[in-house]
Order: sequence, then C-alpha cells, then structure tokens
Amino acid sequence: MNIILLGPPGAGKGTQAQKLVAERGMVQLSTGDMLREARKSGTEMGKIVADVMDRGDLVTDEIVIGLIEEKLEAEKGAGFIFDGFPRTLKQADALGALLEKHGQKLDAVIEMQVDDAALVSRITGRSTCGDCGEVYHDVTKPIPADGKCSKCGGTEFKRRADDNEESLKQRLMEYYKKTSPLIGYYYAKGDLSSVDGLASIDEVSGAIAKVLD
Ligand code: ADP
Ligand code: ADP
Ligand code: ZN
Repeated sequence: MNIILLGPPGAGKGTQAQKLVAERGMVQLSTGDMLREARKSGTEMGKIVADVMDRGDLVTDEIVIGLIEEKLEAEKGAGFIFDGFPRTLKQADALGALLEKHGQKLDAVIEMQVDDAALVSRITGRSTCGDCGEVYHDVTKPIPADGKCSKCGGTEFKRRADDNEESLKQRLMEYYKKTSPLIGYYYAKGDLSSVDGLASIDEVSGAIAKVLD
C-alpha cells in the first residue's frame, strides 16, 4: 500500500508517518528529512538547498524528484508513506509516473486538515530526537521526564532552523500557492480522504486507520 500524507507545515504528517512505520512496517519517505541529511553531509546539493530551506521556500522539483526516485529504486516492494512529497503539481505527476514505472499505484491521499492558528504553536514547540528522529512537542508530546527518547533512549534533541514564526509564514505561503492545489488534483482522481488534524495524535491515527482498512 502506498499513501501520501498531505497538509501544511505542522499538520502532523511526520508524527503519523512514524506511527504507521511502527505499526504497519511501512517505509516513510520524507523529502524534508532527505534534504536535511543532504545539508548535513555538506554535498554541493546540500549547500544549494540549505538557504532555500531556511527561507521557507521550496527546493526545485528536479532535486526532490531525484531524491524520491533513488529511494523508490532502493526500497522496492515496500509500502511507502510519502511525507511532505509531492508539494507541487509537477511533483505529483512525476510521482504517478514513477509508481507506474515500478508497477505500483497510489492507494490513498490523506489530507490532514488543520487551521492556521494552530500551526504557530505546533511549529515553535517542535523538537526531534537527534538519534532516531522521533518527533516531540513541548506541550502536546513532551520529552519523557528522564530526558530520554521513548523510542531509542537518546538524550539529544534538536530544533529545526526553520521552525520559527518568520519562516513559517513563508512556508505557509508556499503551501497555499503551490501545494494546496494538490487537494483538488487528488480529489478529481478519486484518491482523496480528509481527516481532522486538530484531534489528538491517537485520534488522528484512528481516523487514518479507518481510511486504510
Ligand atoms: P514540514 O514538516 O514543516 O512540513 P518538511 O520537513 O517536510 O517541512 O520540509 C522542510 C523544508 O524542506 C521545506 O520548507 C522545503 O524547503 C523543503 N522541502 C521538503 N520537501 C519538499 C518538496 N517535496 N519539494 C520542495 N521542497 C521541499
Ligand atoms: P509535519 O510533519 O506535518 O510538519 P509534525 O508531525 O512534525 O508535522 O508535527 C508538528 C508538531 O506538532 C510536533 O511537535 C508534533 O509533536 C505535534 N503534533 C503532531 N500531531 C499532533 C496532534 N494531533 N496534536 C497535537 N500535537 C501534534
Ligand atoms: Zn530517539
């Protein structure tokens, strides 16, 4: 089964993808995580994308489509969760073509509906485990009191350079201009389901499970 999690920054895509990986053994393909890896590695591509990401703009379609293509080749046969990809109509078309090339199809596109007012606190309260990437939130999913990651026991937690109000504004603008048209695109294809992303993490998981089963 291959699915897309669609929604603005902070909607809860990564959180739900991690739960699907743990509960169903699916493979999470987060272009945001791949791009952050590329930055860390200091490659030519990493240097190019760093500024773009910090500004809150979208990285070029060519770069992210290339990243996804590599992963689809490497992880054949698994069920994929596309998290943060596609973000443009061009990426959506490219994904359709890539899946077809691999004899696969898209089973569901899940739109996580949230209102913008909730996103500032979601984004400014976010941190992740430096070892395993588990997503936490200062208020709604705090790091355990012993200071250890509940998943891997790691003790270092990071905040993203782009998780500030200024960059969020630009990321939201990019979302409305370039990504939100995908809601209509997948609706017209008959692939779209929507869930209430403002519900608790477990309630959202339940709603997603209903769509998938
Ligand atoms: P969020 O969790 O806030 O939705 P991501 O981690 O998915 O953010 O992405 C962080 C940044 O990486 C984006 O603001 C953008 O610059 C870049 N990025 C990630 N995925 C894509 C994509 N599919 N197309 C273009 N840029 C992307
Ligand atoms: P995205 O990948 O869509 O940008 P994340 O999964 O990283 O979103 O979630 C953004 C922040 O909101 C994180 O700090 C996460 O712990 C928190 N969060 C995610 N889902 C919920 C939810 N349903 N209720 C409350 N907080 C949530
Ligand atoms: Zn961890």
